[in-house]
Amino acid sequence: MLRLEQVTVRFGGRAALDAVDLEVAEHETVCVLGPSGSGKSTLLRVVAGLQHTDAGRVRLAGQDMTGVPTHRRGVGLMFQDHQLFPQRDAGANVAFGLRMRGMPRAERDRTVAELLDLVGLPGAQRRAVAALSGGEQQRVALARALAPRPSVLMLDEPLGQLDRGLRERLVVELRRLFGSLGTTVLAVTHDQGEAFALGDRVVVMDQGRIAQTGTPLEVWRRPASEFVARFLGFDN
Ligand code: ATP
Ligand code: MG
Repeated sequence: MLRLEQVTVRFGGRAALDAVDLEVAEHETVCVLGPSGSGKSTLLRVVAGLQHTDAGRVRLAGQDMTGVPTHRRGVGLMFQDHQLFPQRDAGANVAFGLRMRGMPRAERDRTVAELLDLVGLPGAQRRAVAALSGGEQQRVALARALAPRPSVLMLDEPLGQLDRGLRERLVVELRRLFGSLGTTVLAVTHDQGEAFALGDRVVVMDQGRIAQTGTPLEVWRRPASEFVARFLGFDN
């Protein structure tokens, strides 16, 4: 479904991504873990077409995405600081991308209602975003990212601002949701428990490179390097 081939991004002299190869299969959820500055957000931005690359290719469903603008890539992106429009209501936020695509009003309203149901906020169309709790806002952002029915959904710290209890609950909900929708998901988190709970596979990044990929169990049992072991908190 998604394939990165030798993708390199440099800022000044430093490589934020250094010849990264990665494949995500259809319906798979891959969680990207790694310390701050290791290139996680840059990776998502490259797939979304929001970040220039110095080398390498991104393919989606076999197609080379070089030069293809974000809105034609069929990807959904939820940013680290979800960037909702706080003065607008939840419905308008979810409808944002649909309106840009010229979806007729009646269909738009129906789609928004379905999406809000899906994320556990039924009937929240008219509620002002600024008056929603952090967890509710994250759900609205998720509904907005799902609105264009993306073939690949990318989430950058989707539960970043939330407290632990809510995060744990939402992870379970997300996993169920992605399973039922059959969505292909690439999700960034720096929380290892979250990555292990959500991901079919995890990717551990270190300074712009992939230090290890594997199922949560594989990575947990057999860290590929001292870096990974230390990152996971093994201090043998
Ligand atoms: P965090 O966990 O803090 O969100 P991250 O893994 O998402 O970190 P990135 O945002 O991908 O890290 O950044 C990777 C590296 O690239 C960092 O060293 C960062 O300073 C650098 N970088 C990212 N975006 C830019 C930019 N627009 N201009 C210059 N340097 C950048
Ligand atoms: Mg980031």
